[in-house]
Amino acid sequence: MKKVLALLLALTLVFSLAACAPKPAAPAAGEQAAPAAETPKIGVTIYKFDDNFMSFVRRAIEKSAEGKAELILNDSQNNQATQNEQVDMMISKGVKSLAINLVDPQAAPAIITKAKAANLPVVFFNKEPNADVLKSYDKCWYVGTASAEAGVIQGKMIADAWKANAKWDKNGDGKMQYVLLKGEPGHPDAEARTKYAVEEVKNAGITVEELELQTGMWDSVKGKELVDAWLAKHGDKIEFVICNNDAMALGAVSSLKGNGYFTGDKFMPVVGVDAIPDALEQVKSGLMVGTVLNDAKNQGGATSDLAINVANGKDPLDGTQWKFDNNKAVRVPYVAVTKDNIAFAEEAYK
Ligand code: BGC
Ligand code: CA
Repeated sequence: MKKVLALLLALTLVFSLAACAPKPAAPAAGEQAAPAAETPKIGVTIYKFDDNFMSFVRRAIEKSAEGKAELILNDSQNNQATQNEQVDMMISKGVKSLAINLVDPQAAPAIITKAKAANLPVVFFNKEPNADVLKSYDKCWYVGTASAEAGVIQGKMIADAWKANAKWDKNGDGKMQYVLLKGEPGHPDAEARTKYAVEEVKNAGITVEELELQTGMWDSVKGKELVDAWLAKHGDKIEFVICNNDAMALGAVSSLKGNGYFTGDKFMPVVGVDAIPDALEQVKSGLMVGTVLNDAKNQGGATSDLAINVANGKDPLDGTQWKFDNNKAVRVPYVAVTKDNIAFAEEAYK
């Protein structure tokens, strides 16, 4: 009984204090009133929520839209037909702009047709539509990266590390025998990272031999399964594991651990792309040579900034730090991440 009384007293106190709390000051003349009901509805799709990197981009979009827009957020579940229906649904709900992470990078024209019919602006992000498709509609833009840049940075990291560690050439034949876990085929990031990473290693004067190259679809579990199979087939002949993203690199590390690597002097160099927190942990503890920061915070922030601007009828870049290239694209830079600059990468994912 005493407890109940005490609780009641405490509650009364809280309520009376709240009643006494000063009211927020009214906006001074010329100042904008709180946005309240004025915020526009914006329709957002993520190709699948179950993608490690995209979950950070999604969080950045949500954070940066807080108080400025009402987001209708959709998980397209890796199905383009589902995404097309979601777009129809959002248009019928009266969204003022669309922010679309395509399932199929080739599906941009279908989305543009829908947007055009409703006279709606579209910001595509993460999966880049073809340049001519982007040109076909004056109210659409892209936010992402320069895909090739990640490959070049990763390739340079591989070459530098290889040259600094003569014993990684386990069979001593002067060549780097590598396996490569590729992202989704046809995804501009996957295609460019694969091509430029290997090209950059060759440019550094290193002779390479590809033992395996298959798609792990950006996915940790698939990455692990492939590396399990490759280790069973090639064993110690594999001298480098190159991954198009960190999720697959984490799968590779877990497979390698299970196969006795990273104990004693059994080592395998692994590199990824994204710099997601779990991968940074592996870089810190030496199980990954490095990764490449794919700046989720800034890509999500830019997507949200542009989508809000155009929803409010403003210029897409109004009041932002971003610039377009010749293809109406905002490209957030990639950055090499190794043990030496890890703190900076951790910051980018907070
Ligand atoms: C990221 C991947 C992610 C993919 C999704 C890429 O830019 O590096 O981790 O799975 O985008 O489209
Ligand atoms: Ca070799």
